[in-house]
Amino acid sequence: MIEKNHEPIIPKEVFEMVQDEKERRALLKGNLVGDRHKYTSKYAFSGKIYCGKCGNTFKRRTWNSTSKYKKIVWQCKTYIVDGKGACDAKAVGEQVLMDAFVKVFNRINENKDAFIKTLTDNIEKVLSERKTDKEINALDSQIEKIKNELKGLIKFQIQNNLDEDVYKEEYIRISKELEELRRRKAQLEKENSLKDDYRKRVDEIIQVLAGRQGLLEEFDDKIFNALVEKIEVLTPTHFIFVLKSGMRVEEV
Ligand SMILES: [Zn+2]
Repeated sequence: MIEKNHEPIIPKEVFEMVQDEKERRALLKGNLVGDRHKYTSKYAFSGKIYCGKCGNTFKRRTWNSTSKYKKIVWQCKTYIVDGKGACDAKAVGEQVLMDAFVKVFNRINENKDAFIKTLTDNIEKVLSERKTDKEINALDSQIEKIKNELKGLIKFQIQNNLDEDVYKEEYIRISKELEELRRRKAQLEKENSLKDDYRKRVDEIIQVLAGRQGLLEEFDDKIFNALVEKIEVLTPTHFIFVLKSGMRVEEV
């Protein structure tokens, strides 16, 4: 027998279920946490440049804004907010970053065919691991079954006035089972949605490369956005370009 107490019958499980559902909906809408800058960014590099020393993002700044020595740089936010003692990463010239991207792109473009082949193989591998509708539907019908079990229990309690402790114990058991199934379903959907998202990114890279004839002569923010997930700044002249396919390209 469980001792009588005044705890709510469904404690935090329901709350967590609601949270999961919120997260799931956000994922389906594409509002991934950390991906928000995509909709608000004014500059191609906003939210995409990371400090190789402390991991924080870089912020755009204008040096000597009123003089002819005016220069646009990107600088670690930790350095800006907490000073050199917190992070001593140096600022990077915006033009340096742009030139580095042009070089990276042209290197990739020279080996375009091999590069596209690798990307296509990657997509196929990722999609082969995608969960099918059949698996998700099977979970759905299990969820329906458990929900009915729960309804049945409530109805039975109303009609037969079951011992409160027995009822409570049973209610919690079924609720937990339901919660577990919903969590599994949300997990599957999340994984699928990430895989679909990956495919879209890689498809976009392939399209950009396939549609591009000849070398890039100057920075192009559309091409940059299509290809690059982020840039890690190791020094003001040494970068790692992380492509949206997950590939890392070093540029010194
Ligand atoms: Zn830093």
